[in-house]
Amino acid sequence: MSLSVPTSDFQNAPELSVEVAIVGGGPAGLMAAEVLSQAGVSVHLFDAMPSVGRKFLLAGKGGLNLTHAEPSAQFNTRFGPRETEVSQWLSGLDAQGVRDWAQSLGVSTFIGTSGRVFPAEMKAAPLLRAWLQRLRHPASGVPVQFHMRHRWLGWQGDHLVFGRRDGAPPLLVKAGATLLALGGASWPHLGSDGAWQAHLQQEGVELSPLKPANCGFDVLGREGQGWTAHFRTKFAGYPLKSVVLTVPAPEGTGKPPLFERKGEFVITETGLEGSLVYAASAWLRDDLAERGQTHLLLDLLPDKTPEQVFKDVAWPRGSRSLSSHLKGRLGLDGVKMGLLFELCSPETLARPDALAALIKALPVPLKQPRPVAEAISTAGGVALQAMGPDLMLAARPGVFCAGEMLDWEAPTGGYLLTACLASGHRAAHGVLRSLAAKAHTI
Ligand SMILES: Cc1cc2nc3c(=O)[nH]c(=O)nc-3n(C[C@H](O)[C@H](O)[C@H](O)COP(=O)(O)OP(=O)(O)OC[C@H]3O[C@@H](n4cnc5c(N)ncnc54)[C@H](O)[C@@H]3O)c2cc1C
Repeated sequence: MSLSVPTSDFQNAPELSVEVAIVGGGPAGLMAAEVLSQAGVSVHLFDAMPSVGRKFLLAGKGGLNLTHAEPSAQFNTRFGPRETEVSQWLSGLDAQGVRDWAQSLGVSTFIGTSGRVFPAEMKAAPLLRAWLQRLRHPASGVPVQFHMRHRWLGWQGDHLVFGRRDGAPPLLVKAGATLLALGGASWPHLGSDGAWQAHLQQEGVELSPLKPANCGFDVLGREGQGWTAHFRTKFAGYPLKSVVLTVPAPEGTGKPPLFERKGEFVITETGLEGSLVYAASAWLRDDLAERGQTHLLLDLLPDKTPEQVFKDVAWPRGSRSLSSHLKGRLGLDGVKMGLLFELCSPETLARPDALAALIKALPVPLKQPRPVAEAISTAGGVALQAMGPDLMLAARPGVFCAGEMLDWEAPTGGYLLTACLASGHRAAHGVLRSLAAKAHTI
């Protein structure tokens, strides 16, 4: 048992017996509810928040990148060391399946220039509205019963315990099967706060610590004190466009870089964030965790060769200041110029060969990832080996898990939502099999 409710509260606790309890109404839990409802199963879905799908709605603010149109062999590699397991989930609901599902709710999708797939309206609200309408009033199948403001607090024997509004006694729920889809720990004010870790740990479920994924970083800066006040005041909030970010392989290995891509990111009050940094973040985070230090390299002028840059830097500048010289010869200015002056010593700036080399590969030492609460997603969670292929917990038979609370991660690009939906789909089919097996043995 893992509870923060005084035992005395159970004296008046009402009890509810349900065929299937789903806890968590994000994309994973809602997809599981849909599969089960359509299979004629009575589902009760509980969520701590006043309404479901809050993070899904937030994702809609960025256009709702639902999935990606690249071939499945490439798509599956985005899950790195979890490719094998996630591919199994995707075999039941893949990127095309997600597009078909959106279409079945009356929402057409389109493929953007990068291969990312979005709803035509670039919004999550119409999709969520149509989805909830179908779950509550299905043309066939059993309507899903929603219980909002029910916070799961753990188990009391074989009952799930839900805390409710102030003063109300907890609700005890006995379920034929339970599916947990409680999310990771990013943006906790939207509902997923990772508090479930304590409840599962007490049941002996293997977990790996939750970590930020697709996250920003704090920088060390040249003196180890972060950005200087001058740089922060002048450039926080400014984008760096058209740069190449490289995460070099560990020194001395002679291996190719771990990550190298052209793109853009933003300077923050304490460091860096934005799409290019998020894409590199797993390697940087892991290196920081392993070695306590790491850095990335920036090519500030990726369209010029090192020779061109050296030639222009070394060009006699006469009485011009170094910044007017670099601006005039190379077009370097604004935040790119600011970054050079922020991170290079005056001695380096005075040497054309060293300066040219740094313009092409400027090391930015990092201090730490930003906290998981600020990240786009969460790595770590329920170890995949703690569950069977149906996503049922070995330590707690009859309890299934899905979504971001499982130990996998992926870059942005629609991979997160697709894998959450696919794992909800997979776990729901696991529930169906377990209910069928139970019925058979009765
Ligand atoms: C800013 C932002 C933008 C994003 N954009 C995209 C995007 O464009 N494309 C993409 O693929 N992904 C995107 N994501 C990621 C994506 O939204 C998540 O991966 C996805 O929502 C996770 O789904 P889930 O169902 O596992 O968990 P969640 O969506 O987090 O849902 C979990 C639910 O469980 C409930 N819950 C948690 N604990 C309890 C408890 N103890 N008791 C009861 N209920 C509980 C929560 O209230 C919540 O409703 C974005 C994320 C963020 C933060």
